[in-house]
Amino acid sequence: MGQPKPNPWVMTLAPYVAGRAKVDGVEKVVKLSANESPLGPSPKAIEAFGHASAALHLYPDPDSYELRHAIASAHNLSPDRIICGAGSDEILHVVAQAFVKPGDEIIHSRYGFMMYPVIAQTLGARAVAVPNKDWKADVDGILAAVTEKTRIVFLDNPNNPTGACLPKAEVERLIAGLPKDCVLVYDAAYAECVDQDDYTDGADLVERYDNVLMTRTFSKLYGLAALRIGWGYGSPALIDPMNRIRMPFNANVLAQHAAIAAVADKDYLAHVNAFTIKWRTWLAAEIMALGLDVVPSQTNFVLIQFPDDKDFSAEAANEFLASQGYLLRWLPGQGLTNCLRLTVGSEQDNHAVVALLRDFMDRGSYPSP
Ligand SMILES: *Cc1c(COP(=O)(O)O)cnc(C)c1O
Repeated sequence: MGQPKPNPWVMTLAPYVAGRAKVDGVEKVVKLSANESPLGPSPKAIEAFGHASAALHLYPDPDSYELRHAIASAHNLSPDRIICGAGSDEILHVVAQAFVKPGDEIIHSRYGFMMYPVIAQTLGARAVAVPNKDWKADVDGILAAVTEKTRIVFLDNPNNPTGACLPKAEVERLIAGLPKDCVLVYDAAYAECVDQDDYTDGADLVERYDNVLMTRTFSKLYGLAALRIGWGYGSPALIDPMNRIRMPFNANVLAQHAAIAAVADKDYLAHVNAFTIKWRTWLAAEIMALGLDVVPSQTNFVLIQFPDDKDFSAEAANEFLASQGYLLRWLPGQGLTNCLRLTVGSEQDNHAVVALLRDFMDRGSYPSP
């Protein structure tokens, strides 16, 4: 008797693991494991969401026409080069579906967004992980890893989970060294809260290079993670094939309307960014004062390094914080066994996490009951 046979590469795929959201025996938890916004979306986005719910019986606009135009006008971009999707995750998948086939290679940083190897494997392609340099992507390492099978290089800049960010000159050097038929997917999920001067969000690169796709999201600083809405910006050589294969109604009605209001509300975004920068700086300083290392962050999270000592390890700290209702992200699967990633939370939660970490560092894995 035969049975349905999945493609051979499917059954060896290790699925994406999302940030922890509950702990057994702890009733109220604070989730600081998925880089969600503690401030939530613009009130104008919530209002638009409410109005849009009158049209739940209608299919969404398959071209996200109004949203593309709202994004274009907020960022001064060409609306024809924009593609919207169910989170930037979908955009990352669609570009790979359009350009990668079984046996091809995609390159990503070892410490990079964990979806990249998952995407490669869903397509039967090989994910090539290049070690980072100073917590950032290593441009020379990536260029040395390129072969004639390389179809895509995924570069998250700033980097998740390290929070580090490459200067524009390094990104330019990467593009200049890549073959023209290899797509650079420049994932700028945290572009809004970067304050380093020599940064590019990638839009200017898209204008100059047909093989660069910039991706952006409404999930992080815009606080709309639940709605699944993101977008890409690229030349027709990228956007046209992507539009052919994406699902026609990939960006839902509620998401389109909330995002249109969110992207227009620049004051609210400025408020969120100022809050994020203030508290990531505060968290880094407070945590370093406890004797821990923190990677300088350009994002809404900080990566904390713990000592190589089992009583003061990242794993022990993670369990202690979880038992107190604070959920961080431990990433041993990625080789970051000694680190925890902490999302910037509310003022109160930031203070609470630092107090708990202080407690932990005073006593190690034997906190008093
Ligand atoms: C969160 C994140 C994304 C995905 O966001 P969506 O919710 O799918 O829009 C993409 N890239 C990086 C680096 C991220 O951190």
